[in-house]
Amino acid sequence: MSEKIKAFAAFTRGATLTPFAYDPPPLKENELRIDITHCGICGSDIHAIEDDYSVSDFPFVPGHEVVGFISEVGSEIPNSRIGERVGVGWQARACGHCEWCLKGEVQLCLDVTNNGTWTPYGGFSTSVVVQDEFAYPLPDDLPSEFTAVLMCAGITVFTALSRYYSPTAHKIGIVGIGGLGHLALQFASAMGYEVTAISSSSKKREEALAFGASHYIDTSEAAAYKKIEDCFDMLLITSQGSLDWDDIQDTLKRRGKIILVAFPHVDLNPVDLVVHELSILGSFVGTPEDMRKMLAFAAKHKIKPMVEIMPMSQINEAVSKLRENKAHYRIVLVNDLN
Ligand SMILES: [Zn+2]
Ligand SMILES: [Zn+2]
Repeated sequence: MSEKIKAFAAFTRGATLTPFAYDPPPLKENELRIDITHCGICGSDIHAIEDDYSVSDFPFVPGHEVVGFISEVGSEIPNSRIGERVGVGWQARACGHCEWCLKGEVQLCLDVTNNGTWTPYGGFSTSVVVQDEFAYPLPDDLPSEFTAVLMCAGITVFTALSRYYSPTAHKIGIVGIGGLGHLALQFASAMGYEVTAISSSSKKREEALAFGASHYIDTSEAAAYKKIEDCFDMLLITSQGSLDWDDIQDTLKRRGKIILVAFPHVDLNPVDLVVHELSILGSFVGTPEDMRKMLAFAAKHKIKPMVEIMPMSQINEAVSKLRENKAHYRIVLVNDLN
């Protein structure tokens, strides 16, 4: 394989993405190459273009919600896998020997800065190289354009919701009804949570109820938070923006949990935190086992992300839409670079 890989890269921090061609990286024995058909755009791609996480190497090719077909395999992988349809999420590799990898919690690998599908180059591209363990066979009844979104946004909310579900404490508030939130509503209601969607406007009320919420709170209405005081066992925070933390905290029951799957500014009231014995927890993507469970669950319960489909050649229009918060939940790019 000598043809160059075609991709879109930011050459400097925050730059517009421009065409970039690179030699195919050689495969290690446990790696495989995937020819990409679809790649979703995630908020983290935008943050990484801006180098907000201080780990982006330039030229930087974003993209980590990949669906495609295996086109080449390393020496440890059977040739019979060539042609298989697979999905890849944020994580494409792990060191395999740190304490977290040895426990099977590879999403916590100590070599996190080199674990991303972005390394060396990500999914806004004709192909990508990943370790075998992180290329997931896809159920036939999950269409590629929806499944791309499940690979990062889907696993992110599924892992948090499934890890903390309890049949005796299942009243949940989902804060933020966007790319992550609209999937969280679907997964949570299918798991048996009693779901309240919490949004800063009334615009998404009907869609949120259709996604599976039983209740909808528009926090711009007067006394909105009063209606949900002391109400939830758990809050899932999917929103990046600034939040009314004092009011949000008051919606939790005693021993309630706040689960963060996005990175908002956090400003909790320490007195309530202690006196109400609250917990705040982060949850990051999931293990390979979580991913396989999520894909099977999504197929069984017909979880369907709401996506706008765009050609990959219009990547900069897609990035602008996401930056301006104009995407209708999620954008998936169909590869037209070949
Ligand atoms: Zn992501
Ligand atoms: Zn590791």
